[in-house]
Amino acid sequence: IGGHPKPQEGSMKPASVKSIVAVGSGKGGVGKSTVSSNLAVALARAGKKVGLLDADIYGPSQPRMMGVSKRPASPDGKTIEPLHAHGVTLMSIGLMLDPAKAVVWRGPMLMGALQQMISQVQWGELDVLIVDLPPGTGDVQLTLCQKAEPSGAIIVSTPQDVALLDARKAMDMFSTLKTPILGMIENMSTYVCPECGHEAQIFGHGGVKAEAEKMGLPFLGSLPIDLDTRMAGDSGTPIAAGDGPAAAAYAALAQRLID
Ligand code: ADP
Repeated sequence: IGGHPKPQEGSMKPASVKSIVAVGSGKGGVGKSTVSSNLAVALARAGKKVGLLDADIYGPSQPRMMGVSKRPASPDGKTIEPLHAHGVTLMSIGLMLDPAKAVVWRGPMLMGALQQMISQVQWGELDVLIVDLPPGTGDVQLTLCQKAEPSGAIIVSTPQDVALLDARKAMDMFSTLKTPILGMIENMSTYVCPECGHEAQIFGHGGVKAEAEKMGLPFLGSLPIDLDTRMAGDSGTPIAAGDGPAAAAYAALAQRLID
């Protein structure tokens, strides 16, 4: 999670933010937001100054997952004050919208919203700003890669073929846009029954590692299907904030990114 020392001319990236890391997926529902929030918390616990921007316009989940609901203040009407939760500086498009209304925005509006969330939010000094992208390969991804100088992107996928198929498209987009792919994460990898210890490969297993090897990309790790992870996300305290095995797995992922 190195970063550009000086923002380029016309860049959305604030000078106080060392690096921007995008978290993307091809398909929705593979755990991109869960991984984003937990990685952000794990990086903060490792001593980094971390921001988390929920740019998933169509389904912003970070307010729920990070346990915040307050509308961010804008005392001067120009800049926006971010929120803080679990050691992370946070902003979500979901906090600025009516949660019950669907978002139907055209490209230029999305671009404006993203620009506001990156350059008008008072992020302060950050080592890394994690951006939770919408699924797929649309305008938000395009704008972020072209205008915000991300240091790289992380791809989250389940081992299932349909998820991998879409993950390949997302990776293709990042390489076309010259955004380096920092690595792939396999989420919902295996399921271990808490009653009997039986291991089931619900979405398959190992597919993401194999794909990463094929593409010559780093494989950052795999995360099991885990009831506690789901419940922690729903309750607003990411599992990485605790001290169980899932928190240890996220701490290891964060360390791999720092190294
Ligand atoms: P995406 O951002 O890709 O749409 P989410 O992070 O919102 O996906 O995850 C979709 C659902 O799956 C959420 O309810 C989340 O709590 C759950 N989930 C994500 N990862 C896991 C996991 N490893 N184990 C159990 N549930 C998970």
